[in-house]
Amino acid sequence: MQTHARVVVIGGGVVGASVLYHLARRGWQDVMLIERSELTSGSTWHAAGGMHTLNGDVNMSFLQSYTIKIYDEIERESGQSCGIHRVGCLYLASTDARADFFKAERAKAHYLGLDLDFMPLDEVAKIHPLVDLSHFRTALFDPNDGHVDPNGVTNAYAKAAQKRGASVVLRNPVKELHQKPDGGWRVVTEQGTVEAEYVVNAGGLWAREVGRMAGIELPIVPMEHQYILTNDLPEIEALDRELPMAIDFEGESYSRQERRSFLIGTYEQDARHWAVDGTPADFGHELLPPDLDRIADLMAIAMERFPLLRNGGIKRVVNGGMVFAPDGNPIIGPVRSLKNYFCACGVMAGFSQGGGVGLAVANWIVDGEPGMDVFAMDVARFGEFVTRDFLLTKTEENYRRRFMLTFPNEELPAARPGKTTPVYPKLKAEGAVFGMAFSREYPLWYGKKGETTVETPSFRRSNAFPFVDEECRAVREAVGIWETSTYSKFEIAGPHAAEWLDNLVANKLPSRPGRTILCPLLTPTGRVAGDLTVTRLESERFLLVGSGSAEEYYRRLFTSLQSDLLPGRSGIEIVDVTETLCGFSITGPRARDLLAAVTQHDMSDHEFPFLSATLLAIGNAQPLVVRISFTGELGYELYMPEAEQLAVYRALVEAGREFDLKHFGVRALNSLRLEKGYGSWGREYTMDYTPFEASLGRFVRPEKGSFIGRDAVQAMDATAPARRLALFAIDGDEADPMGGEPLFHRGRCVGRLTSGGYGHWVQKSLGLGYLPSEAASDGQGFEVEILGRRRHAELLDRPPYDPDGFRLRS
Ligand SMILES: Cc1cc2nc3c(=O)[nH]c(=O)nc-3n(C[C@H](O)[C@H](O)[C@H](O)COP(=O)(O)OP(=O)(O)OC[C@H]3O[C@@H](n4cnc5c(N)ncnc54)[C@H](O)[C@@H]3O)c2cc1C
Repeated sequence: MQTHARVVVIGGGVVGASVLYHLARRGWQDVMLIERSELTSGSTWHAAGGMHTLNGDVNMSFLQSYTIKIYDEIERESGQSCGIHRVGCLYLASTDARADFFKAERAKAHYLGLDLDFMPLDEVAKIHPLVDLSHFRTALFDPNDGHVDPNGVTNAYAKAAQKRGASVVLRNPVKELHQKPDGGWRVVTEQGTVEAEYVVNAGGLWAREVGRMAGIELPIVPMEHQYILTNDLPEIEALDRELPMAIDFEGESYSRQERRSFLIGTYEQDARHWAVDGTPADFGHELLPPDLDRIADLMAIAMERFPLLRNGGIKRVVNGGMVFAPDGNPIIGPVRSLKNYFCACGVMAGFSQGGGVGLAVANWIVDGEPGMDVFAMDVARFGEFVTRDFLLTKTEENYRRRFMLTFPNEELPAARPGKTTPVYPKLKAEGAVFGMAFSREYPLWYGKKGETTVETPSFRRSNAFPFVDEECRAVREAVGIWETSTYSKFEIAGPHAAEWLDNLVANKLPSRPGRTILCPLLTPTGRVAGDLTVTRLESERFLLVGSGSAEEYYRRLFTSLQSDLLPGRSGIEIVDVTETLCGFSITGPRARDLLAAVTQHDMSDHEFPFLSATLLAIGNAQPLVVRISFTGELGYELYMPEAEQLAVYRALVEAGREFDLKHFGVRALNSLRLEKGYGSWGREYTMDYTPFEASLGRFVRPEKGSFIGRDAVQAMDATAPARRLALFAIDGDEADPMGGEPLFHRGRCVGRLTSGGYGHWVQKSLGLGYLPSEAASDGQGFEVEILGRRRHAELLDRPPYDPDGFRLRS
């Protein structure tokens, strides 16, 4: 066995083999896969091999369609059959709500150039004569879906990679991993030690054990999953062509033809974890004992919908372990504090996602970035909050809900409430309806005071609408308060803190203490990696504030650069103060009067101008107050230690009575920021876009000297980006855009909305999205498809609310 490799991929399931192939395809030949046993020895060998493009996340759908397309290529390259049955997949809906979901999914597919489309039920009857269509209202069909041979695919990846120079070592368990001082790895295996620059954990069912070798606990756990194969059936023997696959969402089953028998699997309510604390090392090519009782109710439903099941006895039950993350998505990317350690695990749909995961991980290793926004799969979307209980509760919920409809405004109940701040019971008493991000509770909107309100899940306007309307009016006319504690917050300090930060962010740092500035972060290729509000607290001490769900993401980035960004300069302290600093935002035309009523400080515009910051005494507390707002109104953000939060809240609420202070939540915030055309991280600001496309060009200052992505942005034409972030007023009715809807220009799909909602003050449905520059110059002929209907969209040259920003600076 060779003793050096640039990359060692641990695990020869479909995912590890795909990572190996994609690294080799990027031209890295010195790459090696080490497999404990034979290829496919984890979940892979017994998978049903189904492949689908349908996924709620647009980029995940794109990567799934990539996965499905790559099979032809690896088959050609390797000479190994993948057993591709591109029989298509029928997605069957029994309810109106599901039909709405289908309309939204079909629209997304349109944007991605995929072939998913509605199929009339009489057509369905022709291609799937064995389904009882009386149970269904509508169907989508994707002709590219189908199933593959798991063994064939894994071997095809491996052989194609080997042809490109990669190596594969079988029957050789990796025993230990040791990080070397230079950041590389010593990979100790049964057959000897390999020195590697990078390691990739593609350990599948044993990914937790491979994680523990490097001292990390990954947020994944196996679940039992069963499918059955019937005896050969005469109805199937009589067919003159293979049946398409079928997903019956309300019946919670997937099914397909397997030679002359029928294969059907379910995601049962009585979900079971397996090997909760660790997968046995000696678990091999084995199945778990069948447990038909648990799926009996769903099988009874399936027999009504696929009557042929009544005739055939069961030939085989497959019960296997399948690894789940709390949200069911893969866990990929670099791990904080472990240099050159990448994850490619938690993949519970390896035959739909394995190719995309391999592509993204290989790009990440080779280029230092995944090539597109993959936050939905990024290991950094989770953090230390994933306890054993959280993991078990959320994975069970996710498994049970696998085929259930989750509405865009729906909050899932498991592991709630998450982490709360001292003010939580007060906000609850005010009628707050909470959402949860990064395990933290935050107010979405406020129902009636003193009552417990629940939001009706819907693709259309919900019961929140009139309440959010009032919240928006209060902010535009008087003053509103919302809790900002969930923002991620970091203090950067040390003798060279300013120089370090200057090398990180694209904007010039605030020139003196007490000033604040918006600072995009870029990837090495000049794409938007983040956006931060940076406040200079002292000459060498800064507070950085960013999106709450990006806490671990920023922490990983800052930690990885802590000693590398400024070689030779040490002593940069990075402290995550997200949980120690709570926050509020006070915003609206009377925000200044409110603050003036609780503090002795001169709040005049002259003394406390826009983008300035100071400590203000409010009673016994002394919060940091930053003059900034995301609503387009005069506004202030207040940050205080947790112990002071209640005191600050009480002071504001008591004084606020005189100024008609109203609580508001994130729903109102979304409406208000859309009226100003402000983008937000994870939607408009992602790695999919350059800062010039994202209208962040004014915050990018190459002339200041070096920073990450500087060379790349200097090579771009800042004045003529290929795409442009655009704001639209859309003819809505009871359904507003929510983001993801396709955008048409003169009948041609040219993009999609990244955000959407109702502008309660301007009384228009609004959407933000990226347009090709030619379409933007034309300025007319736009439509947005919402729930299957194309609606006229007016491209707005300027935001509909206070386009000159007078109110923000008033
Ligand atoms: C019943 C069932 C049906 C399924 N049906 C489908 C389906 O229809 N479509 C679909 O897309 N997905 C399906 N899946 C899921 C699919 O099987 C997984 O998504 C996929 O197999 C995950 O592949 P992997 O490479 O991540 O992990 P694994 O297949 O578990 O591979 C991990 C590999 O790592 C090796 N390894 C572990 N530790 C070490 C070590 N220390 N040293 C060296 N090697 C090591 C293991 O031996 C193993 O070969 C199904 C799963 C089950 C249980």
